[in-house]
Amino acid sequence: MAKHTIVLIPGDGIGPEVTEATRQVLEAAGLSVDWVELPAGTRAIEQGFENVLPQRTLAAIQAHKVALKGPVTTPVAGGFTSVNVQLRKRLMLYAAVRPVRSLAGVKTRYENVDLVVIRENTEGLYSGIENEVTPGVVTSLKVATETACTRIARYAFRYATRQHRKRITVFHKANIMKMTDGLFLKCARRIYEEEYPNIEYNELIIDAACMKMVQDPTQFDIVLCENLYGDVVSDLCAALVGGLGVVPGANIGDDVAVFEAVHGSAPDIAGKGVANPLACIMSGVMMLNHLHEEAIAEKVRNAYNSLLAEGKSLTRDLGGTAGTREFTDAMIRRLK
Ligand code: ATP
Repeated sequence: MAKHTIVLIPGDGIGPEVTEATRQVLEAAGLSVDWVELPAGTRAIEQGFENVLPQRTLAAIQAHKVALKGPVTTPVAGGFTSVNVQLRKRLMLYAAVRPVRSLAGVKTRYENVDLVVIRENTEGLYSGIENEVTPGVVTSLKVATETACTRIARYAFRYATRQHRKRITVFHKANIMKMTDGLFLKCARRIYEEEYPNIEYNELIIDAACMKMVQDPTQFDIVLCENLYGDVVSDLCAALVGGLGVVPGANIGDDVAVFEAVHGSAPDIAGKGVANPLACIMSGVMMLNHLHEEAIAEKVRNAYNSLLAEGKSLTRDLGGTAGTREFTDAMIRRLK
């Protein structure tokens, strides 16, 4: 079996706990790997690096092409620019892919949810172009480019085809943001009409779309959004299937991919040993598929599906009492 080199970024808050759990689970499942551990976020500063996104970390991801990343804290209203936003832009990880699926054994209001949020990851209001016009008046610039809108639309349709999915729904607010969201729609429509007419294509205004999502999430297949909407809709969708502890993610570029859970650094539970590592483990499964280690991916998926279905070893966010360690040990036992 090929030995992989993967950059491991533990991150902040619960990041070190959930990435360590994932590392152990993937190795127990048989992954042959050299981890290159490097920091990002406040941990990078603590370790004496020049800034929150060290050049060495970026260079390692560029060299090895694949990273597993823990969440990194983003200061609210001030402080440094989000490491996640910087990373996605610097490495041109233009597509965030977030599969949201109901899990047997995880009680929620819904059954049979099986959708994927695909989020444009490089522009929109997350361009970070903010300005104080005059004291008391500030602006934030929403950027949409034909290149990025076309690129994400094409990615979503290609993903739909490869994954045998049938329908793409774009969430937008082009009735108000006529030019920016208008361009996003125009590009998506063009890709649909010219390249993928066999995939069903719909558009929904985002406020109505959120209502429909909560009424019946099973009507959605692939949801395509610009950056900010994708961020918000991802958390909404996570809540439909059990919360942030069970939703994985991947940030994909043309030749680099960074895998990370949808959740943040959860400072409220950091260091307490209670975080659910499953979202990070599931992101690890997405990474295994990306690395063409489908058999190991399947093994890990079977292990957590049977563990959850049994209802034992559930972490607190899923109504159980297990800590991060207990859940991880139960996973490892199942893989041996
Ligand atoms: P950040 O500023 O890094 O985004 P946050 O606390 O604002 O952190 P999240 O980390 O996404 O945002 O957490 C939102 C809520 O979900 C918190 O109450 C947190 O404890 C909970 N949560 C997030 N991830 C997990 C997890 N893996 N296991 C258990 N609870 C989680």
